[in-house]
Order: sequence, then structure tokens, then C-alpha cells
Amino acid sequence: MTVTLGPLRIDAVTELDHWPFAPAELFPAVTPEQLGDHRGHLDLSITTYLVRTPDQTVLFDAGNGNAKERPVLLAHHQFDTPYLDRLAATGVMPEDVDVVIATHLHPDHCGGFTQLVDGSWDPTFPRARYLIAADEYAWLQEVHAAAPEGGVAADLARTFEDSVLPVVEAGLVELIDLPYEVTDGITLRSLPGHTTAHLIAELSGGGQHALVSGDVLHHPFQFSDLTLAQGGDVDPVAAAESRRTLCELAVERDALLLPAHFGPGRIDRASDGFRYHPAPLGVA
Ligand SMILES: [Zn+2]
Repeated sequence: MTVTLGPLRIDAVTELDHWPFAPAELFPAVTPEQLGDHRGHLDLSITTYLVRTPDQTVLFDAGNGNAKERPVLLAHHQFDTPYLDRLAATGVMPEDVDVVIATHLHPDHCGGFTQLVDGSWDPTFPRARYLIAADEYAWLQEVHAAAPEGGVAADLARTFEDSVLPVVEAGLVELIDLPYEVTDGITLRSLPGHTTAHLIAELSGGGQHALVSGDVLHHPFQFSDLTLAQGGDVDPVAAAESRRTLCELAVERDALLLPAHFGPGRIDRASDGFRYHPAPLGVA
């Protein structure tokens, strides 16, 4: 599952191959026409991307992580996956990772920042710089500071406590303003709406391009209606604008899209918007 862009080598590392949701849970305003064949459930994945440059090993998102207590967000509760074995299969051990980047701080993206060792949450990638957008961090810190006792906010506060705070306390977090150049060929830019300060990564090498798009889109059928909000979008108007910006950017650059919850692919224009063409890594 590898693709190269000049000197960049990109591998998809999947934490969960099948992550089913009821359509209306994911997209409250979805219509039966839009769902087409997807009426039973929508099957997402949780995929992270490892990018190796000549001198840096960079991981985009780290998955949900194992053993996290999420009593409200049950789809995120108590994972037990061989994610780190899958990472090792690409030839990379946790201590080899130089940079970990959060597209945003939802639990299925930053939960894997830490792992449970002898009852404490330790950084999974002990040598890495963890890059987090300063505004995104401020948002989750505020959620935590409000000490919510229930609802989704309580699980977000737990996420801050067991997945973000331990890497901060270990001195590994760098809060960044966007845009931000990580290294040659990797630039982060803001694409908000799903969360306050959601970011994407523009990858370039050898005249080719890719975009790590996190949760700007959650399922390919959003390409036929970019206004279709995901239930977790904090600002649905900004999120819809960001989906359009991402599609325009991908078409303009003929970029390979690397999303967190469905497979890699390419986008082209259609009479009524955009179409998605899956392009599994290795064949792209
Ligand atoms: Zn997500």
C-alpha cells in the first residue's frame, strides 16, 4: 500500500477496516436518494498516513488507540487493534517516527498519540514532535476546563486527558499557526468547519501532489452534495466551503486524495459537482 511522489514515500496504515454507522447518525440530513445502495449502514475505515521524506518520518493522525474509555462515543470505546504491528509492517517502529500531526483533535485521530503502559498513558511515539494547530488545542483545552459531566463533551474532555495532555507533559507538543511548512514537500494549511481548526496537508514531490484530508469529507457520496453536513461538523457552513475548497484544490493539482475514513482516490469534475475515483495506493 505504497505510493511515491518523487522523494516522498506514502503508506496508508489502517487501524480499522470496517467502522459501521447508521446513515442518519453520520449525516442527519441525508436523503434516501443520496444513500442509493448504502441504506443499511455506512462502512467507514480509520486510516492514517505515513510519509517518509529523505530525512523525516511523518505520521498523519494516529487513529483511535487501544483501551480508551469512551462511554458516550461508543464507536470509539475500548479498541483492541494491531495498529502498531501494521505500522511495523511498513518498516517503521514507534521510536522511528519524527513528527506526528493531528488533522484535528477528535478521539479517532489523536487517541493513538498515547498508549496504556502499566496503568499510565505514555506517548506512543517517544521521540516525535507532535504538531497541533494552536486554535484546535485551545478549543479542546476549553472543553476539558469546563469539566463536563456528560454527553459528547465528557468524552472529548477524556480525550484531552488521556491522549493529548500526556504528550504535552512529556514536552513533545509544538502548537503551530497555519500555514506551516513541516519539511520540503509537506505544508499544512487550515481547512476548518469539521472542527475549529481542522488542517490538511499538501504533499508535493517529483511534480506530483497528494492531499491528506482528514475529516473534511467522511464518505464518497458527499461528493455529489458538498453541502451535506456530517453530524459532528462544528460549523456546517464552513465545513461545506472547506469540502469545495478541497475538491477544487485536488482537481487543480490532479492530487491524490488521502482521507481518514475512506480509501485514497482522485477527483474530477462532473456536470453537477465532483466525482470520486478510488485509487488504492500502489496502483495510483
Ligand atoms: Zn474522524
